[in-house]
Amino acid sequence: MSVNYAAGLSPYADKGVCGLPETFDSPEELKAKVETLAQLIKESQYLVVHSGAGISTSTGIPDFRGPKGVWTLEEKGESPHFDTTFEDARPSLTHMALLGLQRAGYLKYLISQNVDGLHVRSGFPRDMLSELHGNMFVEECEKCGRQYVREKVIGVMGLKPTGRYCDVVRSRGLRACRGKLISTILDWEDSLPDRDLNKAEEASRRADLALTLGTSMQIKPSGDLPLLTKRKGGKVAIVNLQPTKHDKHAYLRINGYVDEVMKQLMALLGLDTPKWEGTVICESSTDASESATDVKPPCAVTVEKKVKNNLIKEERKREAAALTDDGSIKEEKVSVKRERAGSPEQINEEK
Ligand SMILES: [Zn+2]
Repeated sequence: MSVNYAAGLSPYADKGVCGLPETFDSPEELKAKVETLAQLIKESQYLVVHSGAGISTSTGIPDFRGPKGVWTLEEKGESPHFDTTFEDARPSLTHMALLGLQRAGYLKYLISQNVDGLHVRSGFPRDMLSELHGNMFVEECEKCGRQYVREKVIGVMGLKPTGRYCDVVRSRGLRACRGKLISTILDWEDSLPDRDLNKAEEASRRADLALTLGTSMQIKPSGDLPLLTKRKGGKVAIVNLQPTKHDKHAYLRINGYVDEVMKQLMALLGLDTPKWEGTVICESSTDASESATDVKPPCAVTVEKKVKNNLIKEERKREAAALTDDGSIKEEKVSVKRERAGSPEQINEEK
């Protein structure tokens, strides 16, 4: 691979519990549990899915804490094995099934800890997706906030400048923004992206069903978001082979491969899993549904339009600030640190 994500991160002592044994439900048990899951999804008003590295292992990208995970092997002094590069990896059945659930109206919001960019590359609408730890393919202008989704990995980690500059041309005048572009990939101590985290928290509170796929939920705050759903009276369903930090909070706990679970689930819901037809960047969910019966390629929304709207909003904000004339209106930046992963004692306690 061109950039080793894990190797690009700073050294960090507490990476959570790694290498716990995997458990498998019997085929009958699995079938019965997926039937329950299908029922829960049909009854739900607002389904939110939380995805982790476990949904990408079938694409050849290793996870972190699984038996062959990056951190598990690191503890043993071994190196992880990649069967693919980030550029060559194709969305898994699970990625595509999630797109199918979104198009069918079941899935209302998707929250991912994955940096492999496969949700975006699957065509999942970006306005219904929070990528809490960044995306290997996305760089962002530090001045105007425009994001650029690239075909190749950015190659820089830890929110650092990529060496490129923003080419957005302001609506008034012909001057380009020229802001520095920075990587969106978080290092251990970096703050989560405000916009994505706020939307994720809002969706988690609103959800009546949180489905977690392929995550042991050890990283905070991402791993704790499903608990917001439970606190508001919603249910949590967990699909993971290893134990997770929040198993005791689960209404339904499925021990199976995510691809197998999603395959059975889609059949039970009578839905087709969309085929991947190469990377199509989908900025907005509304465009996707509008073009479903259209000849136009789905999600052919231009990024330009969105950026223009943002700039107009920004200008309005500035105007409002000018009106108060005392400089008191300042954008409050709430910085939420990605806290340390749970210690081994913690996960054992909660089991
Ligand atoms: Zn810019």
